[in-house]
Amino acid sequence: MAEEPTRHQDEAGESSEGSESKPDHGGLSRRQFIAGAAAAGAAGVLGVPSVASATGPTPYLQVTGGDDGSDLIFINGEIHTMDDDGTVASSVTIRNGRFANVGQGARAGGPNTTVVNLKGRTVVPGIIDNHNHIVLMGNRPGFHTPLENANSIAEVQATLAARAAGVPSGEWITTIGGFNILQFAESRFPTKTELDDAIPDHPVLVSQSFSGPAAANSAGAAILAANGVTVGPDGEIASGGAGATGEALLFLRQTLLTPGTRRRGAADAMAYGASLGVTTHLDQGAFQATGEPSDGAAHEDNFTMHIPFLELYRSRELGTRLRINFLNLEEDPETPQLIARLKNAFPFFGGDLVKTGGIGEFTAGNPFELFQGPEPSEAWKNGTLRVAEAGWRNENHSLSGSDFMAIIEGWEEVNAQFPITDLRWVLAHVPFITDEYVNRLKALGGGLSLTGWRYLSGTLAGNGPPFRTIVDNGIPTGMSSDGMQIAPMNPWLHMFYATTGVNAAGDLINDGQQISREEVLRLYTADNRWFLGEDDIGTIEVGHHADLVVLNGDYFAVSDEGLKDINSVLTVVGGKVVHDAGVV
Ligand SMILES: [Zn+2]
Repeated sequence: MAEEPTRHQDEAGESSEGSESKPDHGGLSRRQFIAGAAAAGAAGVLGVPSVASATGPTPYLQVTGGDDGSDLIFINGEIHTMDDDGTVASSVTIRNGRFANVGQGARAGGPNTTVVNLKGRTVVPGIIDNHNHIVLMGNRPGFHTPLENANSIAEVQATLAARAAGVPSGEWITTIGGFNILQFAESRFPTKTELDDAIPDHPVLVSQSFSGPAAANSAGAAILAANGVTVGPDGEIASGGAGATGEALLFLRQTLLTPGTRRRGAADAMAYGASLGVTTHLDQGAFQATGEPSDGAAHEDNFTMHIPFLELYRSRELGTRLRINFLNLEEDPETPQLIARLKNAFPFFGGDLVKTGGIGEFTAGNPFELFQGPEPSEAWKNGTLRVAEAGWRNENHSLSGSDFMAIIEGWEEVNAQFPITDLRWVLAHVPFITDEYVNRLKALGGGLSLTGWRYLSGTLAGNGPPFRTIVDNGIPTGMSSDGMQIAPMNPWLHMFYATTGVNAAGDLINDGQQISREEVLRLYTADNRWFLGEDDIGTIEVGHHADLVVLNGDYFAVSDEGLKDINSVLTVVGGKVVHDAGVV
């Protein structure tokens, strides 16, 4: 895929800032370019520019460095390419959505060139999250506000208040999952008064994890109490279904979700990811919604929930990449639903922005009963066989001390009938997997998706995964968040956990299994290519998709605590700026 550098570029060696700080020609200045990009899109409610653009028929391909021969050039950076040699470059040139040059001191020359002087800032490839639930996040009722980065009640208040500033008065401000009160210094929910003080003009509900507990401000509590939710005197709402958090969530879904609000939520979710540097999401589905109060944050309709994202794609407003796995949970041993999916859908089909994946993170059968008995359910066994027969990719999750054994043994039996060794089957999370089973999965051609989900509420007994053991093993391994219910999306929090073994409460719970910053960043970028089945993404190399993140600090030099504060000041996907904090 390598593309020859054009005559507009030359390798000028390491150049000084002064000689590179502006374009050679009269193209847009960096500031003009960014201002134009921001103005062209509808301003996102998270305060970041939306990726929408009114300047062309295909704005998601309309990069600086588009068909007109213009280039987007970054100079004077610490650009960690994550290529096989670990190259650190100082400059990159982007053209037609791909990296056209990666090197030391490339110079501008074209008539429509935009040059960005990074002034030594750290750049990494766009983060690939190989297992998350971004589609659930995009379908939340209300103006969902991630609280995963708040370390105290004051930061909760500030986060909610900042969000409310961009939301019409009277609209619901919500946080549906993705945080745990253990991450706050106070280890409690905000009080009703604290929520009222922060957000006086909106009803508010913040709900922890899958199904609460939750807390509401005065306005929110009044509305919910009038609609069958039991709300305590301080706005507290118990976890669970009827009368409690599940009832509140159902009420909000029934009254707030429309095609328009879902679409807005989908755009917000992708914009939030871009603000963290996540440029590719591999979504892993939802528990099938029942429309009852027993539904939690992870429930949605697996057959319609992608529509808002597909609408954004169709209208050229989707800026970051979405890959879609199909989750299947039916309990019928004949698995008719799964068979229909395998017959009527295509794996790994689509374009650069949206593409299908495989089956996962469940194949069939009730996950809560799946491995309770002596062996997996008939639905799981039959479904797994059908996926192998169809030649699809398959992904399951493992959470217990024994389920990984049942899954891998089951996959070995299937492999004897329909070989899966070329299909890249994945086991995700694996907090307690052993070396023996890592090797058995490796022999099946499988891989492991690791996550720092224990960061929020993990303990010494509930710790893992064994990062060190697995990385040393050499089995295909990648990194994911498993956000947005029990875990944050923020990849830098997961990198903090993977490299320190310390949870959000500050307790060392995964000692001996820490990996290096270089290793975990590689898992989140280059090594996640294997999970996507794509080879032109995840590293900053000539010919690859031009996805990169300019960080607000030096990832490799900040303190461990400082890792939690890493985010993106500028995110580029396919050569297009999709997040700009305005500081570069
Ligand atoms: Zn998951």
